Amino acid sequence: MYEFAVTPAVTQLRRPGVIITEVVPGSVGYLLELQPNDRIVKVNGRSVRDYLDFRFQTSGETELTFLVKKTNGDTEEIEFDREEGEDFGLTFEQIVPRQCANECLFCFCKGNPEDARPSLFVRDEDIRLSFLYGNYTTLSSITDDEMNRIIEQRLSPQYVSVHTTDLRTRAYLLGVDEKRADIFDKFQRLLDNDIEIHAQIVLCPEINDGPVLEKTLRDLAAKHPKVISAAIVPVALTRYNTDERLTRVTSEFCRRTIKQVEKLQKEFRKTLGVTFAFMGDEIYLKGGVEIPSRKHYGNYPQIEDGVGMVRAFVAKFERSLSAPDRNRGALTGQKRASDRRTHMAATVPPTFAKTYSSVTDAVTDPAFGTILTGEMFAPILREQIDKLNALKGTRLTVLAVPNIYFGGDVAVAGLLSGRCLLAMKDKIVGDFATFPKVCIKSDQPILIDGMSFADLERKFPVPIIPVDLDSLMQIVR
Ligand code: SF4
Repeated sequence: MYEFAVTPAVTQLRRPGVIITEVVPGSVGYLLELQPNDRIVKVNGRSVRDYLDFRFQTSGETELTFLVKKTNGDTEEIEFDREEGEDFGLTFEQIVPRQCANECLFCFCKGNPEDARPSLFVRDEDIRLSFLYGNYTTLSSITDDEMNRIIEQRLSPQYVSVHTTDLRTRAYLLGVDEKRADIFDKFQRLLDNDIEIHAQIVLCPEINDGPVLEKTLRDLAAKHPKVISAAIVPVALTRYNTDERLTRVTSEFCRRTIKQVEKLQKEFRKTLGVTFAFMGDEIYLKGGVEIPSRKHYGNYPQIEDGVGMVRAFVAKFERSLSAPDRNRGALTGQKRASDRRTHMAATVPPTFAKTYSSVTDAVTDPAFGTILTGEMFAPILREQIDKLNALKGTRLTVLAVPNIYFGGDVAVAGLLSGRCLLAMKDKIVGDFATFPKVCIKSDQPILIDGMSFADLERKFPVPIIPVDLDSLMQIVR
């Protein structure tokens, strides 16, 4: 059913070229009579493996020759000129991720229920996705070709799961031998070639914490500014992670780690001028320690890893509350529809967008409904929503949704399943409910447990709306 998500990357790599999925009418591609499903095999005589190659090989070129494999099997050579920087008007197939060759102790795949959405079992380890989307790779099985590609195509920054600079501990965590775990030379080669790196440490109590963590952070900080930042995120274990070598993260462990890292952060701010090492929001929330100030996070270098999200949200929400009330009532009629289009069009298939549109109409003014979120974020969101209710007369209730699907330590908003949300249906207050949009697959309207969004909607007592923080703020203003 979801074959695309689990197709081994190797089958894609064997097929030369990159497939066009859309051609904008009137564009350069349209005038060249390119069509969806045509495959561009070469640009100016150089092979194209994927969208990134296409981008790299056309960049700055005004005189071009495409070798195109048409859908009828013909091969065409197309020579043309374009204006400098002129867009081709082409959209391409997604990159199919290359898979990792590790057996990490804490791998999220081992914590999935058996019936989880197949894409959750994909162990991607792909330097292209690292560059494009901030996905972390371990570099432990990177090939020479991939190394050369990063350097030649300037795929910078790269996001690297370092975990620890102690080789024996790294090998143990990754479940590979020390030779494979040793990335020192590769790491250094990237830095020597001016490829910037964001590092990540998945913190596992009693394995890479304490002195091992301190040494790792110091080793990485010594390579700043080319190593831009380091994120420390706690290992999250579901009820399916039963490996006895793993220890669960406790509140006490979080408080101890915060104390330890705060000292280093202070030192880094003095010596490097930046905080450099950032702890995941979960560490503060679980430890019951206040999230650091806006200043602490600088330009939020690890926000893609969820680090600093709470502070960013609170700052944005508070700004929004104190801003002039120009958008009040904006969620009625045409204005609301246009906001929605802007927000959803890029990622949501048309059928899903249609469903989404119809439920958004259920939001009344002033809004009266329920906001569903993960247990960890709920207290933060509730505090803000209470302020909003008092200020704007909305009647919104924040409900913390227990993660009955994964269990264990999983309390983040993004891993709520259809079943978790449905279990809350008798507690809904008001005319509508919202839930975090990230719970839905980006290219298909299904939730993490494979439940379709349509199914969830059908079984829910009120319209249920997937939102991100921006669209939530639009709804509640
Ligand atoms: S690198 Fe480790 S955690 Fe990531 S997918 Fe591979 S085995 Fe899992």
